[in-house]
Amino acid sequence: MITTHVKPDADALGSSLGMANYLIKKGHEVQVITPSEYPAFLHWMKGNDGVLVYGEDTEQQCQEIIDQADILITLDFSRLSRINQLGDMVKEASGFKVNIDHHLDPEDFADFRLWNTGAAATCELCYELILALGDEALIDKDIAECLYAGIMTDTGGFRHPNTTQNVHEVVAKLISHGADNSRVSKEVYDNNSINRLRFLGYALSQNLQVLPEERVAFFALSTDELQQYSSKTGDTEGLVNYALSIEGITLAGLFKQSSDGVKVSLRSIGKFPANEIAAKYFNGGGHRNAAGGRIDLTLEEAVARFKSVLVAYKDQLEEEHRKL
Ligand code: 5GP
Ligand code: MN
Repeated sequence: MITTHVKPDADALGSSLGMANYLIKKGHEVQVITPSEYPAFLHWMKGNDGVLVYGEDTEQQCQEIIDQADILITLDFSRLSRINQLGDMVKEASGFKVNIDHHLDPEDFADFRLWNTGAAATCELCYELILALGDEALIDKDIAECLYAGIMTDTGGFRHPNTTQNVHEVVAKLISHGADNSRVSKEVYDNNSINRLRFLGYALSQNLQVLPEERVAFFALSTDELQQYSSKTGDTEGLVNYALSIEGITLAGLFKQSSDGVKVSLRSIGKFPANEIAAKYFNGGGHRNAAGGRIDLTLEEAVARFKSVLVAYKDQLEEEHRKL
């Protein structure tokens, strides 16, 4: 059994299906389970059709698979709370537990851990694991494309500071194993619905708030606004980066109202600790430059909380901008 974090992104799903396709080639019986649905721009990955999405109707099935699994591979998360209801099932399971991840503060739940916060993506670690097992020759086009996708998106399209020499060397190898990098990029980035583009236009022109003095910019989207543009899972993916792309901005946020409170996404430049704000004030965590959380408040209250927190970070917000 392979699982990954809630609202899987390309690194989460790519590492899961990359490992699944590899293990199937090794003769294993594999079931990927995700704690929630994920965006349509990831559906091209080989094995997507076999993914079991946790929900009310699949709860029993998930429980049985997790109970029976000899090996449970958990990818791209470091704490069991990141897989919601599946967390308790995995915790109680008797199978051998593996955790492969690059997030901070790992919880001690796995029997074997491949953990490196210096890795840009969990997909990078999966590639290295396959190599370490002497199985590079088993990496085919499908596996290579799953792993390529996760590295591509977790490095922001090879632009973030985590884009190391090793990242380029790994993706070069993946291309040599058949990954069509241009196709993967098109599938993931150039796959917009018209609604999503119009929604982006609305968000940028009507919703974006900029606090130039504070060096902060953010979006705060209500369920009404999201519904107006028939926003689907994944439609707000990447939106927060537009706020961070503004000249002079150190910290960017996206506050998204949902049925269970407000989902928060934070992005920062340089050494500014977005994960500290996510952990201290929004029940979350993440990486220094990309973090998130969730809080049970109204949208207005969540934004007010965010603004009030900024005062304590005034100097740091200014300093990271000046360093550029
Ligand atoms: P995103 O803003 O794309 O949802 O998440 C960015 C990063 O923040 C993720 O890769 C993950 O590390 C972290 N993150 C997002 N949401 C949560 C959350 O609810 N809890 C924790 N611990 N980390 C989160
Ligand atoms: Mn990742």
